[in-house]
Amino acid sequence: MDAKQLQTYKQHNTLLSQFIVRLSAFYEGFSDKIDSELQILRGHLSGTPNFTLATVSINKLNSALQHQELTLKKYSIETVALLESATKRLQKAVFEDEALKKRATQQLITLNQPVGDIFSIYKLFQQAIELHHAALASSAASEPAVENSKGEAPALENSKESNKDNTVNPLYKSILEELNQLIASYAQRQPDDSQLVDIQKKLTEGMSEDQLLKSCVVILRMIVQDAMAEASLTGKVIQSLHNSLGKMGGDIQLSMDNSRTQFEQRQVGNAQLQSHIESIEEAVSHSDSLESLKEHTQFCVQNIASTLNEQAQLDSQGQESLMGLLGSMQSRIEQLQKQTQTYKKKLAEQMMLSQTDPLTRLPNRQAYNEKLSKAVQFWQDNGDDLAVAVIDIDHFKSINDRFGHAAGDKTLQVVGKNLKQQLTKNTFMARWGGEEFVLLLPGMDKQKVTSLLETMRTKLASLPFKFKQEKVTITASFGASFFKKGDTPDAVFERADNLLYQAKNSGRNRVITDRDE
Ligand code: GH3
Ligand code: MG
Ligand code: MG
Repeated sequence: MDAKQLQTYKQHNTLLSQFIVRLSAFYEGFSDKIDSELQILRGHLSGTPNFTLATVSINKLNSALQHQELTLKKYSIETVALLESATKRLQKAVFEDEALKKRATQQLITLNQPVGDIFSIYKLFQQAIELHHAALASSAASEPAVENSKGEAPALENSKESNKDNTVNPLYKSILEELNQLIASYAQRQPDDSQLVDIQKKLTEGMSEDQLLKSCVVILRMIVQDAMAEASLTGKVIQSLHNSLGKMGGDIQLSMDNSRTQFEQRQVGNAQLQSHIESIEEAVSHSDSLESLKEHTQFCVQNIASTLNEQAQLDSQGQESLMGLLGSMQSRIEQLQKQTQTYKKKLAEQMMLSQTDPLTRLPNRQAYNEKLSKAVQFWQDNGDDLAVAVIDIDHFKSINDRFGHAAGDKTLQVVGKNLKQQLTKNTFMARWGGEEFVLLLPGMDKQKVTSLLETMRTKLASLPFKFKQEKVTITASFGASFFKKGDTPDAVFERADNLLYQAKNSGRNRVITDRDE
């Protein structure tokens, strides 16, 4: 093999190795075991590739991936079954417990988020189960452990009785609100789902505890179905990567076999050339006439030419098969890239949808919570000012009562848009729920915060609303509080909320911040 051809082979092998190294890096994060084997494979293929060890590694990976796929399905089925049974048990548990309620809400919000990889889905299921167990433990601790003759858990005490004043029970009201929020994004995606339409209707009319629990189960099922659909999509992408890696392993093996055969054929050719040259030397030393020497030499030269010709043909065949191999790998990479792009796009769309309030198209509470944790982190690291403002439309109920719910909805959209238009750089606004909005105001001192909120207030108050030919002025009240050393986000929100109610009590359509005093 001449140096140039050897060089070409080396380049092709390097290209293949680099490809596998990149593909395996793309795979990273799927599982510890597979990660470590992929790392070994990358070791064999980096620098000067060792294909013998790489083949061993690829075989190990193939079997590990097959095993992984089985575990995935089994694990998913078991976890979903656990979640379902735990949720059913929750129906019987008492959940008039603020801390547990908060955890459950948080859990539902987390569950509602699109999940990137399969293992985070399992974690979510596990958290949900832990929460359900905690709820059961708390109900057992707060209620007398009376079992009836059938050994069933005691039913909710006086559940009919407590339904009577559900409409004024703040816990009941807040559960309805949370459910309304959760259901909104699903209802937007599935506007024809009669079950969802029914729940939404009952939520506005008010529902009994039994109905409320049933509705919770419906929503939970939807969340689980969503997560499972996500898991199956992730599984498909992984399966397709697995298949491609397997095919790639086969191609590499084939290419190595071909190279070996070609190398052996070349050695045979080289031995032939050597013997042709030796017979010329012999002819030179033993020929007795110039004529016979010439004849013999001509014969040997013809042999050399034909051997060289055979070798050239072999080389070009080898070249062609390598090019074919590279071409097929190229198309596999392109196919994989397309699949992953579609997958990423779908994930991004879901993420967007889950963080947007369907009515106002503003970020929702979930998006706010994410933004908040980043802002708090920044505040802790840098000590810059950070304020939270809560906005509540004044007498909004009367818009609904006088002009109908649809007019109320439209008003919320217009108010949301108008408030958002006044936002300055780095400020963030979300719909907190109902007719309330929440703002995150980083890096602004008291004067800047007050000035921004005053602008928002006055611009809104000057909007010319008109319902059924009647001109209406819509105003809002604002409460804003600054983070202080040792503050938790909940404490700051509560202060802002209290200031908002001070604003309401002192006449509405005003701004109060906690550095006013
Ligand atoms: P206040 O000035 O004290 O804030 O009075 P308010 O009427 O604005 O407050 P209240 O909390 O009594 O009523 C809020 C109303 O907002 C009740 C609820 O029906 C309505 N609401 C909440 N979400 C929506 C929604 O998405 N669309 C419509 N149309 N109304 C909503
Ligand atoms: Mg309100
Ligand atoms: Mg209001």
